[in-house]
Amino acid sequence: QRIVEPAPAQAKPLEYTGDYPGNLFMVVAPSGAGKSTLVNALLEQDEAIRLSISYTTRPPRPNEKHGREYLFCTKDEFAERRRAGEFLESAEVHGNFYATSRIWIEEQMRNGRDVLLEIDWQGALQVRKQFHNAVGIFILPPSLDVLEERLRKRGQDEPNVIVRRLLAAGSEIAHAPDFEYVVINEAFPRALSELQCVVAATRLRCASQYARHTELFMQLGIHLPQS
Ligand code: 5GP
Repeated sequence: QRIVEPAPAQAKPLEYTGDYPGNLFMVVAPSGAGKSTLVNALLEQDEAIRLSISYTTRPPRPNEKHGREYLFCTKDEFAERRRAGEFLESAEVHGNFYATSRIWIEEQMRNGRDVLLEIDWQGALQVRKQFHNAVGIFILPPSLDVLEERLRKRGQDEPNVIVRRLLAAGSEIAHAPDFEYVVINEAFPRALSELQCVVAATRLRCASQYARHTELFMQLGIHLPQS
């Protein structure tokens, strides 16, 4: 006789909305909060996360390469892809268009890979409507002064663009409460380790564990209904 009997099917089922074994992370921040540096460090140390490369109509900056930072395209190509339903979400940010490829993301997540989106808050809210389990992480600068200093030091943008981005930062920051997690990027190592903690905790969510270890869950008699 078994000492531990498999648990009976739960009377009140847990809500299970994960369609894929992979997790979806959305990292959002005002420009200058240090988002790209943090994300790049996270990706370097965690091979199981893939970065989604967005389409944009913005011209490449000096060090940017097509297919690495973005898939740069014309406004016409962008509109054509949008019409064809290729995008999971799209948004206009600082006068340029940006979009996330739906096909690629779904393929990665179906194959158990975690996907990270570096998008703006409008895009994140659109994604959440389709992927209820997507995890939103908002990166904040330690102060507005630091944000401005980082933008100027970056030296990548024209002064008028910097002013536009600074003005936009205030309204972007106001959306932090729409996200589950907030990381304050004051000391880089700490912010990175906090980001890693969010990733680790997400992988341990019941729905995620179920999707990855379905056989074990079944063996133990744990039933989670598919949404
Ligand atoms: P940047 O031009 O500085 O690379 O990005 C400007 C803003 O566009 C950032 O807030 C960035 O997160 C956002 N962005 C980049 N890719 C996408 C995307 O695919 N969708 C949306 N909605 N925003 C994006």
